[in-house]
Amino acid sequence: MLLKLDYEEFNTYNGIVKQKMNRRIKMKIETKCLHEGYHPGNGEPRALPIYQSTTYKYNSTDEVGKLFDLSSNGYFYSRIANPTVGAVEEKIASLEGGIGALCTTSGQAASLISIMNILKAGDHIVSAATIYGGTINLFAVTLKKFGIECTFVDADASEEEIQKAFKENTKVVFGETIANPAISIFDIEKFAKIAHKNNVPLIVDNTFATPVLCRPIEHGADIVIHSTTKYMDGHAVQLGGVIVDSGNFDWTNGKFPEFTEPDESYHGVVYTKQFGKSAYIVKARVQLMRDLGAYPSAQDAFLLNLGLETLPVRIEKHCRNAEKIAEFLNNSDKIEFVNYPTLQGNKYQDLAKKYLPNGCSGVISFSVKGGREVAAKFMDSLKLASNVVHVADIRTCVLHPASSTHRQLTDEQLVAAGITPGLIRISVGLENIDDIIKDIKLGLSNI
Ligand code: PLP
Repeated sequence: MLLKLDYEEFNTYNGIVKQKMNRRIKMKIETKCLHEGYHPGNGEPRALPIYQSTTYKYNSTDEVGKLFDLSSNGYFYSRIANPTVGAVEEKIASLEGGIGALCTTSGQAASLISIMNILKAGDHIVSAATIYGGTINLFAVTLKKFGIECTFVDADASEEEIQKAFKENTKVVFGETIANPAISIFDIEKFAKIAHKNNVPLIVDNTFATPVLCRPIEHGADIVIHSTTKYMDGHAVQLGGVIVDSGNFDWTNGKFPEFTEPDESYHGVVYTKQFGKSAYIVKARVQLMRDLGAYPSAQDAFLLNLGLETLPVRIEKHCRNAEKIAEFLNNSDKIEFVNYPTLQGNKYQDLAKKYLPNGCSGVISFSVKGGREVAAKFMDSLKLASNVVHVADIRTCVLHPASSTHRQLTDEQLVAAGITPGLIRISVGLENIDDIIKDIKLGLSNI
């Protein structure tokens, strides 16, 4: 666990890992997916062990007391940290180029904790309007009940337009690298510049891109979050989320007293003083995870780790298959439009080249001519692709956002989130491309 360590030591996790890391080479992302996080010693298990224990034994009350004081480093209760989950956190932090990470029980919990770690009642969020429907709900409805307001902006607007959404009490900016389900590309550098001009951090949800395709920290994002339920797991067996801290944001700029003033729930600890550059991620763990209790089980972290090990191989095939499916759909006269950034003439082609040069994930959205009913008929005719409330899976799946994930949005919010009544989201899997095309042809022949 990452307590009472300064920045230089933080990267090395703890004393034991530090010795092992010193012997390691600088790794590329495919290698990191396999080798980061867990470093077995001589005679130890090769695969990441599942430490299915809620608690940890100590020899003295003094040692346990020091853990509660945050003055020594160690596991003590699996609501805050666990060695299996910790290995996955270290791996994901490394993949994103961050200094530390915190796993959560869902992507929603990651969004919530990443925001609550910064904001309190009376504060304000500026968010791109094109984001996941569940996050819109969280920001627009639930957080409002806690006294936090959100202004949604057109992510494609000019810097001057976006600046108008900022208020005295704005504390964070939020966006999604590849928006679900609009498949628009978020201009990370533009938003990082605006956020930093206003002395607030930028949080980027990098779920669809994954660090294999884009690493938002390299473009100025301060915090990166994921629903690990999606590509990171990839097999539809684990529900989870993660928050990654770049360690780059200056929490001492005067706007964030929660980081610079004593925390009465921790005997007056001042996070920026005691934890330096890792203040954000340590506070999220020891204060919010302690109080909100949304930490994943070791078993789930083990499953997530299996997914991460093959992530680059899967992502490559998802992208290549999706490029072909996007072209195929685009050539059909039964389709109104296709959103996929690599298509000629797509509005986001240039941003995709900049932020996602190796591909834009397996997720495409498109609209059939004829609206909602025709969309349903097309989806019900498919034999291979399954109609599931899921995305970013190894198996091809489809979903109708307006009647499912985004059902709670008003018509106005639907349009702002890039969703028309006939919009279908297809998440292209790893099947043979000929079989996926055959299935889509079948669907089209029935409408
Ligand atoms: N962020 C994005 C981009 C998503 O697509 C989702 C879910 O679909 C979430 C966050 C929420 O994640 P979870 O379902 O793991 O809570």
